[in-house]
Amino acid sequence: MSYDFDLFVIGGGSGGIASARRAAQYGARVAVAESWQLGGTCVNRGCVPKKLMMYASRFPIKFEAAVGYGWSPVQSELDWDTLITRVNAEVARLNGIYERMLDNSKVTVFEAHARFIDAHTLDVGGQTVTADKILIAVGGTPVRPPIPGIEHAITSDEIFNLRPRPERIVILGGGYIGCEFACILNQIGVEVTQIIRSGQILRGFDEDIRTEIQAAMEVSGIRMITHAEVTGLEKTDGGVTVSVTTQDGEAHIVADAVSLAALGRKPKLDNLGIENTKVELAAGAIAVDEYSRTAEPNIFAVGDCTDRMNLTPVAINEGRAFADTEFGGQSRTMSYENVPTAVFTTPEAATVGLTEAEAIAKYGEDGITIYRSRFRPMFYTLPNIPAKTLMKLIVHKESDRVIGAHMVGDDAAEIIQGVAIALKTGATKANFDATVGIHPSAAEEFVTMR
Ligand code: NDP
Repeated sequence: MSYDFDLFVIGGGSGGIASARRAAQYGARVAVAESWQLGGTCVNRGCVPKKLMMYASRFPIKFEAAVGYGWSPVQSELDWDTLITRVNAEVARLNGIYERMLDNSKVTVFEAHARFIDAHTLDVGGQTVTADKILIAVGGTPVRPPIPGIEHAITSDEIFNLRPRPERIVILGGGYIGCEFACILNQIGVEVTQIIRSGQILRGFDEDIRTEIQAAMEVSGIRMITHAEVTGLEKTDGGVTVSVTTQDGEAHIVADAVSLAALGRKPKLDNLGIENTKVELAAGAIAVDEYSRTAEPNIFAVGDCTDRMNLTPVAINEGRAFADTEFGGQSRTMSYENVPTAVFTTPEAATVGLTEAEAIAKYGEDGITIYRSRFRPMFYTLPNIPAKTLMKLIVHKESDRVIGAHMVGDDAAEIIQGVAIALKTGATKANFDATVGIHPSAAEEFVTMR
């Protein structure tokens, strides 16, 4: 049976594009369907615009520090409109780059929604297209729990086009997105209240990291309401009122313009026609094996729609492993061990390997050694700003291997990326100790901890 394409990729995000290009390199005839903009969540309404906004938000600290170095005080106002316009222009530039990359790789792009008719046939914007193999890479979408009035909250999808700049905002959720936006908005002068249902932000991260960031966020002016259940949102003339029940009773928080719901994300599977295939779901995500194979032999899935580890570089790696295996004559799977990740809060956090709790669960309290260092980075000494950096190593006693590295502080993401190579290659604490530090730097602490 001949098909229109060897591979049809549904979704032009990070995972989809990486898979399509790699398969095309092997000579496969490939098509991608994307009904919105190429680049997916990361480029259009995630990592990229968020990081640009984070850069914008860090200038006030630099302005403050400059005075400590003898610069005259800097009087500067953020023009929010300019920021939003410039961020969106950069996103548009990247969309163009993706388009050209796919074009250069001879990948056919359909600017349309694709829906399964059967396992080899798709309806792509009204056109019937067939393919030997089909990859689902449709990503995720924000969750909106059934809280009365939740429709009055925006999500991270909308925040990049928010005009005018809010004066007061309520952020629901203490995960990556909630914390990153709480910090960005707080640093640029928005009054931020963050509501979390547990006692601590960033579930899943090392306890020391969580405590350090949360304390720093509160010191920087973010009002955190913990152990709070959101009971409803109500639109008023002045904005939105968010009602919560806490241990101390009921509270009503008024946001001038909006509240931001950052309550997790779920696979975006609506109107995909999955029911016309044998593809199975597990907990609302596409069920796949380690080769990203679904229950339908010719259909595969990568990225957030499989809800394995929802990070851009993971989706890209899953996609390339799939293409190498199916079109490149190799047998490759993605390794989920020692995947580093960062949270672009202020202060920033980054981590690789096991948390202390995970290490204790695996090796017992006596099986590990913890090394910690907390200090004021040199940059903040002259301005006398009480910012702190925290670094932590977790070592498996028996093998001496470093099994976890965690950091809160400036450039944490940049530093942990390098440390991740050491963990990935099985470095021992003795290897860390034998490495000469770069002096003076914050990063050298990782090789001088005793
Ligand atoms: P997360 O899963 O990280 O956090 C969700 C937050 O919402 C948690 O604080 C959770 O509380 C809370 N929550 C969930 N449901 C409810 C509810 N019904 N009522 C009250 N609170 C609730 O989701 P995000 O939306 O922040 O981010 C989604 C994903 O995007 C992340 O998991 C990450 O993979 C990815 N991402 C990665 C980034 C990066 O790498 N820097 C940046 C942004 C996103 P609790 O902890 O109690 O469960």
